[in-house]
Amino acid sequence: MSNTSTCAIPLCDIQASYESLKNEIDAAVARTLASGQVILGPEVAALEREVAAYCGAKYAVGCASGSDALLLALSALGVGAGDEVILPPFTFFATAGAVCRLGATPVFADIDPETFNIDSEEVALKITSRTKAIIPVHLFGQCADMDALHRVADRDGVPVVEDACQAFGADHQGLKAGAIGEIACFSFYPSKTLGAFGDGGMAVTNDPGHARRMAALRVHGMEPKYRHHLLGWNARLDAVQAAMLRVKLPHVENWISARRLIAERYDELIDSMELSDLLQKPVRHEFGRHTFSQYVVRVAGGMRDGLLKHLQSKKIGCEVYYPVPLHLQECLWNLGHAEGDFPVSEEASRSVLALPIFPELTAEQQRRVIGECAAFVRQQVAVAA
Ligand SMILES: *Cc1c(COP(=O)(O)O)cnc(C)c1O
Repeated sequence: MSNTSTCAIPLCDIQASYESLKNEIDAAVARTLASGQVILGPEVAALEREVAAYCGAKYAVGCASGSDALLLALSALGVGAGDEVILPPFTFFATAGAVCRLGATPVFADIDPETFNIDSEEVALKITSRTKAIIPVHLFGQCADMDALHRVADRDGVPVVEDACQAFGADHQGLKAGAIGEIACFSFYPSKTLGAFGDGGMAVTNDPGHARRMAALRVHGMEPKYRHHLLGWNARLDAVQAAMLRVKLPHVENWISARRLIAERYDELIDSMELSDLLQKPVRHEFGRHTFSQYVVRVAGGMRDGLLKHLQSKKIGCEVYYPVPLHLQECLWNLGHAEGDFPVSEEASRSVLALPIFPELTAEQQRRVIGECAAFVRQQVAVAA
């Protein structure tokens, strides 16, 4: 028998949702393989309809990854050499990678210290005549302040592309991520809130022109067959992934509820174990639903790396999203940034820590996670004394 007080707690448990839906998922795979249609085809088209309906948007274009969804969105908007795209430096690399791949220049705008999302006042300072798009990232499952951002963007008619890769199911003033910006990009990477069993992504929009261009771009810009008006690439979604995602989609609301409950339990544990000085709880914005794709605390007093090591030594999965902000990444040296350029992002990189969260995480496991944080504090106090 496993001893629950010592057994590992993963950051994210991808197997658990497979175990709970095994029969349906296996049947969906078998059905797709038997159909012989393994790339795009009816499964992908059905998933596109279902995701669009879920988001309350008109169109969805399935693609190979969240990274490709970003590339498709920016390409459809005509982003290219000489253009600037505004984005936060505190995000996964793909947000900036898509901009650079198209020959455009990423222009960073610092984040809000409470939500870690892009600060619209910083965005306003960065808009120029060359700004072709703004990409807010709905980090950790909570939407950026889209009203404030739209007020800034609309003044200059700049389209807003949501990087909603971490925010499937999040909402903002009653609109779901995916139906707020001009185009929204989702990732079905296995550890995301709605995860495939491999790579996958989707771009969602209300604009028929964008939808049509993105659908063409993902097949080398081919429309009709062997006629290429646009310079695309292969960004197709596998039918097997789509079929499995269709099994999972009806469960996503329950999973989000479970994640929100887990987040509340973490909050309560942090308070009841008197750790709120050490661990700053995630801030929920009043304008929408946080889906907690990650439960990220800020660790005070320069103790983040020490706590990370302690939790890892106790086999508790945790992670730093993200330890190096994008403006300090080696491959972006040519942008000419230096330490100090985006202080809020830099501070976040030094203090954030993601704790285990997945729908099946138990209250008992959570008590162990926060209990180990308390044990770490006791150790520090003992060392200092
Ligand atoms: C996961 C992620 C991506 C990229 O998605 P992939 O499917 O891995 O290509 C882009 N942006 C953000 C913010 C992400 O979290």
